[in-house]
Amino acid sequence: MTSPRITSKRRRVQAVLIASALLLPFLSIGGNPFLRMDISMRTLFMAGVPVRVDQFYLVLLATLFVVVFFLLLTVILGRVWCGWLCPQTVFNDLAELIGERFRKRVSPPVSRLIEHASALSVSAVISFNMLCWFMSPASVAAALVDFSSNPLLMASFLTVSLFGYLNLLLVKRSFCHSYCPYGRFQAALTDEGTLNLAFLEESRERCLRCNACVRCCPMEIDIREGFQIECINCGRCIDACRGVMERRLDGPGLIDYRFGTRKGTRFKPGSKTVLLGVVTLVLGVGLAWGLAGRNQTAFALQRIATAEPQTMPDGFQAQPWRAIIGNRSESPVTYSLRTEAPQVGVISLLGPVSNIMVAPNESREITFLIRHKHIGGTPRTVVLQLFEGDRLAASVKVRL
Ligand code: SF4
Ligand code: SF4
Repeated sequence: MTSPRITSKRRRVQAVLIASALLLPFLSIGGNPFLRMDISMRTLFMAGVPVRVDQFYLVLLATLFVVVFFLLLTVILGRVWCGWLCPQTVFNDLAELIGERFRKRVSPPVSRLIEHASALSVSAVISFNMLCWFMSPASVAAALVDFSSNPLLMASFLTVSLFGYLNLLLVKRSFCHSYCPYGRFQAALTDEGTLNLAFLEESRERCLRCNACVRCCPMEIDIREGFQIECINCGRCIDACRGVMERRLDGPGLIDYRFGTRKGTRFKPGSKTVLLGVVTLVLGVGLAWGLAGRNQTAFALQRIATAEPQTMPDGFQAQPWRAIIGNRSESPVTYSLRTEAPQVGVISLLGPVSNIMVAPNESREITFLIRHKHIGGTPRTVVLQLFEGDRLAASVKVRL
C-alpha cells in the first residue's frame, strides 16, 4: 500500500498557513488589528499593540527579531521553508492541485480554462490579502467596489493580481530554480546539525532505478546524485520511493530527512544555532520590554531661532519656543506644560501652555515664551514638564 505521508502532512501545514494568512487580517484584539502595518494610521499593530511610526526603533527591533528568527529556523530546518512554507511553493502547489483535480474529468480546452481561472482567482485573493496587511479589509473591499475613490489601491490590486497570475501560469517553479537567492544563501548558513533531505547512500544497492523519485520532483532533479541547490526539500521523492519499496515489500524508502549528513544523526545544535538562538532571545526580550514600557507621549522643544529674546519691563527676558506634542494613545489627551517645581517663580511660561488638547495618534505644535531672569550671560538649565492631568507624561531639559 502506498503511503504519501510527507505530502499529506505538507498539505495540512500549507492549509493551516493559507487559512492563517487569510484570516489574520480580520483578527482583532482589544478593538485593534492583531497584526497590520496600517498606512492611514501610520501605525504598526503587533498582537494588537499599536506602535506609532515615530517609535521607529520598535519597528526596527521587530523587523530584526523576525529576520534573526527566520535565520535560526533556516539553520535548524534547512530548506524545509522552501518546500513547505514559502508562498511561492504554497500557491504553486495549490494551483497544481486544482489543475490535477479537473484534468482527468474534463476535456483539455476546459481544463486549460480552469487552470487560467484558478490562477486568476488565487492571484486576486493573494492581492486582496496583501492589501489587507496595510489597510482594514473593509476599507480595501469598499475601495475596490468604488474603484474611483482610491485609484492607487485599485492599481496596486490589479498589478499584484497580474504578477500573481503570470507567476502561477508562466514562472512557476523556475523562480525557485533560477532566481530565488535563498537557496544560495541557505547553503552558507548550513550547520553540522541542519535538517537535510538526502538519498541514503548506505542503501544505494537497494535502488531499483525506477526513477519514481525523479518523475515526481517539481524541480526536475535527481536526488540520487547528492546535494543539489535546487532541491526545495518538499519530500515528494520520499513518498514516491517509499511507495515503490512498500509495493515490492522491499523495506523502507531510500530517501529521507535527517539532521546532519551521517546516518542516524540526531538534532545537535551547532555554533550558528546557539549564536542565532541567543540573539533571537535577546531581541525578543528587548522587543517585549520596549513594547511594555513604550511612552504614549512624544515631546520635543525647539528654540525659535529667528525670534530674538525680548527684554520685559520688569527686567526679565522672554524667549520664544516651540513645543511639539504627540499623543500616541488611542484617546484624546489634554496636556499642560509646566516648569519643574524649584523653578516656579524664577521661570514662568507665557502663552497657551495649559488645556492643550491633542487628538489620538496626532501631534500638535504650540508656541510660547519662557520668561526668566537673565543672569549676566550665564546659561541656565531649565526642565520643562508635560503633564497629562496630574501625571508627568514627559520632560525635556533646555538651556536658556
Ligand atoms: S529532490 Fe525531492 S525534495 Fe528535492 S525538490 Fe525534488 S522531490 Fe522535492
Ligand atoms: S524511487 Fe527509490 S528506488 Fe526508485 S530510483 Fe528513486 S531512489 Fe531508487
